[in-house]
Amino acid sequence: MLTLILATTVMAQSWQAGAAKVDITPDGPVWMAGYAARTKPSEGVLMPLHAKALAIDDGRKGRIVFVSADIIGFPKSVAEEIAIAALKEYKLERSQLVLNASHTHSGPVVWPNLSSMYFFSAAERAKVEAFTRKLVAQTVDLIGAAIGNLKPAQVEYDLGQANFASYRRNPQRNGPTDHAVPTLRVRDAKGQLTAILFGYSCHNTTLTGEFYQLSGDYAGFAQAEVEARFPGSVALFTSGCGGDQNPYPRSSLEHAKTHGHELAESVIASAGRKGEVLKGRIRSRYQMIDLPFQPFGRNDFEEDLKSTNRYVVSRAKVILTAMDNRSISRELAYPIQAIKLGQASVVTMGGEVVVDYCLRLKRETGNDKLFVMGYSNDVMCYIPTKKIVEEGGYEAKDSFMYYGMPAPLKGEIEEIIIDKVKTLLKKVTR
Ligand SMILES: [Zn+2]
Repeated sequence: MLTLILATTVMAQSWQAGAAKVDITPDGPVWMAGYAARTKPSEGVLMPLHAKALAIDDGRKGRIVFVSADIIGFPKSVAEEIAIAALKEYKLERSQLVLNASHTHSGPVVWPNLSSMYFFSAAERAKVEAFTRKLVAQTVDLIGAAIGNLKPAQVEYDLGQANFASYRRNPQRNGPTDHAVPTLRVRDAKGQLTAILFGYSCHNTTLTGEFYQLSGDYAGFAQAEVEARFPGSVALFTSGCGGDQNPYPRSSLEHAKTHGHELAESVIASAGRKGEVLKGRIRSRYQMIDLPFQPFGRNDFEEDLKSTNRYVVSRAKVILTAMDNRSISRELAYPIQAIKLGQASVVTMGGEVVVDYCLRLKRETGNDKLFVMGYSNDVMCYIPTKKIVEEGGYEAKDSFMYYGMPAPLKGEIEEIIIDKVKTLLKKVTR
C-alpha cells in the first residue's frame, strides 16, 4: 500500500512545463490580413504582436508544445517548415506540436495565406514575405526556448465562460454558439502561476477593415490583461471553432477592449480556485485526411477569366496554373490531431472550423475535459458543416474564392472529420 502511494506521488510530480514568448511585431508598415477592402499598409502599432509557446512533458517521453500567435493563421507551407525544423533541432515529432493562430484581422499577411484576396505591389509582397521568413525563424527558436524552460509543474484543467460570441450567419444571430473558455493553468513548484493557455470559439474580428493599427484584437487585450494580473506569466490564446461566430458588438476599439476584458476576467476568476490537476500520460497523434471538393472543371475557370470581379479572375489564374502544373487535387489535404493530456484531451483541426464541430465533439465523445481548437496547423479555408454547405453563403462557398480553392467542399466532410477525429482520440486515450 505504501509503495503504491509513493509511486502515485512521484508520478503526480513528474510533469514539467515551460513557457516562452517572443515579440513578432513587424518593423514597419505592412499589409494587413483578413479584410479584402483594405487599400494601404498598416499605420502604427496599437499593441505589440506575440508568438508564445507552452511545452508540457509527462516525464515519460510524452511531450506536447502548444504555439499560439497573434496572426491570421499558419499556412501549411509555414507550419511544415516550422515542424521540420522542430523535429531536426528538438526531436519534436509532428504530433507533439500544435501551431494555433488567434486569427486577428489586425495583423500582417502571412504569405501565402489568402493570397487571392490581396492586390498589392511587389514591394508590399516582399515585406509580407520577409515578415513570414522572420516568423518561421522566431517560432522555431520560441519552441526551443519553451522546451529549455521545462521545470517541475502542476498543470490544471478548468473551464470558464465568456458571452460575447454570437452566430453570424443571419442578422438575428440565431444559431449555435459555444461560450466555454477551456483553460490549462501551469503552476511551478511554489504554486506560482507561470502560464495560462485558454481558448474561445469566436472570430478575432472586433476591429473591422477601417482599422490600420496592428493589434491582437480582443485576444490581444485578453492575453495582456492576464499577464498583467500574474506578473512573469505567459498567457496564450488559442482559437476554437469560431468560423461562424463573431464578437458582438463590434467595429470599435472600445468593444475590442471590453471583449478582451470579459475573456480575461473569466480566466483570472477561475485561477483563484484549484482546478483539476492533470496526471498520467501525454500522448499525441497527427493525421492528414482527405476532404472532397464539389465537382469543378477547367471550363469554369476559363469562363472566370472574363469576369469583371478581380477576385474571381485572381482565383481562376491560380487554379489554371495549378491545372497546367498538374498540382490540382479533387480533395483537400486536411490536418487533424488528438492529444491525451492526463485526464483531459485536446483535439485540433485545420481551417476556419464552424462551432458545431466543437459542440458535436464534446457531446458525442462524452468527454467533459475536451479542449477543441480550430485554426491549427494550417488555415486553408472554412470548414462548414453539412447544414451550412446546404444553406450556402460565405462560410460554405463565397470565401473559397479568397482562399484560392477550386470549389466548395462537399457536405459529407462533416461526417468524415467527426469520424476520423473520434478514431484518433480513441487511439491516444485507450
Ligand atoms: Zn475568418
